[in-house]
Amino acid sequence: MFTPDTITRFKNAETPFYYYDLDMLRQTLQACYDASSRYGFHVHYALKANFNPKVLQMIQSFGFGADCVSGGEVKAAIDYGFKNNQVVFAGVGKSDKEINFALDADIFCFNVESVQELEIINELAEKKGKIAKVAIRINPNVDAHTHHFITTGLDENKFGVNTWQLDDVLKALRACKNIQFMGVHFHIGSQITDMEVYKSLCIRINEIAAWFEDHGFTVKILNAGGGLGVDYHNPDTNNISDFQSYFKVFKDFLNVRADQEVHFELGRALVAQCASLVSKVLYVKNGQKKNFLVLDAGMTELIRPMLYQAYHEIENVSRTGAADLKYDVVGPICESTDCFRKDVELPESFRGDLIAVRTAGAYGEVMASGYNLRDRVQSLYSV
Ligand SMILES: *Cc1c(COP(=O)(O)O)cnc(C)c1O
Repeated sequence: MFTPDTITRFKNAETPFYYYDLDMLRQTLQACYDASSRYGFHVHYALKANFNPKVLQMIQSFGFGADCVSGGEVKAAIDYGFKNNQVVFAGVGKSDKEINFALDADIFCFNVESVQELEIINELAEKKGKIAKVAIRINPNVDAHTHHFITTGLDENKFGVNTWQLDDVLKALRACKNIQFMGVHFHIGSQITDMEVYKSLCIRINEIAAWFEDHGFTVKILNAGGGLGVDYHNPDTNNISDFQSYFKVFKDFLNVRADQEVHFELGRALVAQCASLVSKVLYVKNGQKKNFLVLDAGMTELIRPMLYQAYHEIENVSRTGAADLKYDVVGPICESTDCFRKDVELPESFRGDLIAVRTAGAYGEVMASGYNLRDRVQSLYSV
C-alpha cells in the first residue's frame, strides 16, 4: 500500500515509472539472510531478475553472492561490489568472449551446461594458464509444477546435462586438465510455491552427488539453484516469501557432510515485491462489450503478462471507492497482446488516474525494451 506522501510524489513524477520500496527490499533480504545463515547456507542473488543499481548495492551489502547468466552480468556484479570469489556464471550459451572475461575475473565457479562447453572452457583456461572451477548443471527431471513457460528442469528443456549423458561428463572431466570439478548444480524452474517440489529435488541431488562420489569425484558444492515463488495475489498481506520453510526443506532432506557447502540462487523471491510499475490512464474507452483503460505503460515497460501469461494485482491509486466496474487494462503498444489483464475490477476510473501494477520488481524493469521507439522507463525510490 502506498502512503499519502508517496501518492503525492507519484502525482509530481513523470509516468510511467518503477517505484522501488527499498524498505520492503531490506526486510525481504533480512528474512532471507536470517533463514539461510541459520543453516550455514550460501545465497547467490540471480542478477537477471533485477539489476537496478540501488537494488544491487543493497543486496551485496548483505554479503550475498551473485549468480550471473552473461558476461555483462558478471561485470555488473563485480562493478557493484559483489566479491569475485562469490560470483557464479550459468547459462546454456556462454560465448568465448564471456568465458574469457569470467576467467580473467577469477570468478568462483562456472555452472557448465554441456560436455562441449566444458571442453571449450578447458581450452580457453589452458591458453591463459588458469584452472577454471566448474560445477556441472544437471537436469534432474523434476517437474516444478509451475507454468510450462518457466519450467527448466525436465528432460525436454534446453538447460543442463541430462543424466544419461553423465558418463560422457566424467570422461571429459578426467581429460580436461585445466578444469577443477567443484560440484553439482540444479535449477528446475521459477515461481515454485509447492515445497514438495523441493523435497523431490533434494532426493535427486542426493542420488546424483552420491553417483559422482562413487566414481571418484569429490562433490564440494551442492547448488540447488533458485525458483522460490512469491504471492502475486497478495502483495500487501503476504509480501515476504516463506524463506524459513524453503531452507528447512533442504536442511531436512539434503545429505550434507561437514566439508560440503550448500548454495542457492534466488532471484524473484528477493526482489519481486519491492517494486510496482506506476502508470497513468491516458484514455477510457467504453465499448459495447468491454471497457478499456488505456495506460501510458505497456509491454515495453512490463512484459510478464504478455510473455508468460503472468498475473499481477492492478490498483487505481487515485481512487478509493468500491471496485465495482470491470476494465481490460491495456497498453499503448501496437500489438493485440499488449494487455496487462482482462476484466480487472476497479472503481470507476478517469483520464489522469494513477494505476499501479504490483509485484513488478522481478523480471520487470530488466525486460523493458525500446520497441515502438518508446522512452526508457524511469525509476523512483522510497526515501
Ligand atoms: C533465473 C535463474 C535463477 C533465479 O530464478 P528465480 O526464479 O528468479 O529465483 C537461478 N539460477 C539460474 C541458473 C537461473 O537461470
